[in-house]
Amino acid sequence: MEKLVSLCKRRGFMFQSSEIYGGVNGFWDYGPLGVELKRNIKDAWWRDMVTGHDDLAQLPGAPSAYEMTGLDCTIIMHPQVWKCSGHYDLFHDYMVDCRESKKRYRHDQIQGRWVEAKGKKIFATAGSDSESPEADIERQALKFFGMRSKNADELKWDGPLVSLTTVDDFEQVLGPDAKTLGTLTEPREFNLMFKTTLGALGGEADTAFLRPETAQGIFVNFKNVVDSSRVRVPFGIAQVGKSFRNEITPRNFTFRSREFEQMEIEFFCHPDSSSEWYTYWRERRFQWYQDMGLDKGKLILREHSPEELAHYSIGTADIEYAFPFLPEGEYGELEGIAHRGDFDLRSHMEGKLDPSTNPMTVELNADGKPKHRGSGKDLSYRDDISGERFVPHVIEPSAGADRAMLAFLCEAFTEDEAPDDKGNMQTRTVMKLHPRIAPIKAAIFPLVKKDGMPEMAQDIYRTLKKSWNVFYDEKGAVGRRYRRQDEAGTPFCITIDGESLQDQTVTIRHRDTLDQWRVKVDDLTEELRKQIG
Ligand code: ATP
Repeated sequence: MEKLVSLCKRRGFMFQSSEIYGGVNGFWDYGPLGVELKRNIKDAWWRDMVTGHDDLAQLPGAPSAYEMTGLDCTIIMHPQVWKCSGHYDLFHDYMVDCRESKKRYRHDQIQGRWVEAKGKKIFATAGSDSESPEADIERQALKFFGMRSKNADELKWDGPLVSLTTVDDFEQVLGPDAKTLGTLTEPREFNLMFKTTLGALGGEADTAFLRPETAQGIFVNFKNVVDSSRVRVPFGIAQVGKSFRNEITPRNFTFRSREFEQMEIEFFCHPDSSSEWYTYWRERRFQWYQDMGLDKGKLILREHSPEELAHYSIGTADIEYAFPFLPEGEYGELEGIAHRGDFDLRSHMEGKLDPSTNPMTVELNADGKPKHRGSGKDLSYRDDISGERFVPHVIEPSAGADRAMLAFLCEAFTEDEAPDDKGNMQTRTVMKLHPRIAPIKAAIFPLVKKDGMPEMAQDIYRTLKKSWNVFYDEKGAVGRRYRRQDEAGTPFCITIDGESLQDQTVTIRHRDTLDQWRVKVDDLTEELRKQIG
């Protein structure tokens, strides 16, 4: 992972935001290669899910044909949106402060064990990002008991190291007696939405929020889309855009950031067929990551257990990837596919729903008025053929563009052997990115800077540039030029040599197989189109 992080910086995939001022935790900038890679990922998703989707065909596994369309909504929305969606009251994480290290953790990033000495007992802790939790715990315990490291054998360990992943775990560990002795504060709720103020004189009533997901823009525009575009249920609305979450501990490179991009679909269907659509979207999205080059052996589709499900959710499955920074056997979420029933549309019609009782009732204040009033607008749908009126069910495949990019980078990073200019085998670093998402599709090299080779190479560069992002390089030995492109993930290098001037052919070199073959200049665009796919 360290090698990948250093390559990403060295080659301009990503940089820490505001780096010259020391950086700001949880924010990342995409460099010249990174911006292309991320744009290609979003474009591939949009093309595969939206513009390239055949509205007339019944795709394998789909209960029927369906339509797809898109939206681009604002980041700041009416504050009532977040009250009705539940984010205002419920979108929080639990944070815990470690009294010893003064570090702040998300509740599921703590591991620890009971330690006893001098008749006292503490629950000593370490962050799950710790290189050596045992050493951290020992250090902490020695400090707490006022002992020196040579007395470490007087410490009594009670049980194995445990991870605290749920708030219940905390309650068990930090029971009434432990509270005073433990080294963790109790978990406290922390709302993840960033606040801002509307207008120059804004007071509390003008508080607005940066959206923590793109989905709500789709729900509140449901009626606009139906009325303006003649789509018929079943159909999906897609959106790609920035979301913001004030994560307690951003970490693992871009995996958990505070500003990130989501690629979300809200798929509206009849309640009777929603289970079948849920199954369809799980499979469809799982396959997409494989089509884009992720190894199936490193991917899982994990169905949530009933305890994990949100109160309104009929089913949720996560697509998870074995990121190299996670311990063996652990996976990180790339995308969640949720069957949300009619929760969202109803919330925006009627008001915030009470999660503790019937999810279809409106939560009331003591005065009997709804706590968070919905828009009052009718968001039901009338099928113009059957005449039936209903509130559609929603299947939501919600993906993160930055996490997908991180997974593609991890998968692509390869060290193998390739011959240098003298034919000696050398270790090379190569980013085996899928050609569709590779930042640069082809690099064009004149073998030497003379005899008309640069001119011919520049002509080819200008022709190819009309179709793709291609790169021209005439500096240094050709072997070194190949290596630079291997690190950038460029799938094809095209070399113009003495023979090219004679017979109007060029050599194409394949990044992964190192195969080389000659192609007529006139056929080059077609050949690349075939190869890039
Ligand atoms: P997690 O459990 O990892 O916090 P989540 O279940 O809260 O994720 P969702 O609300 O389902 O995530 O968001 C959908 C997708 O958005 C996630 O699968 C992920 O790809 C992306 N995402 C969510 N939070 C972040 C973040 N802080 N940084 C980068 N991507 C994120």
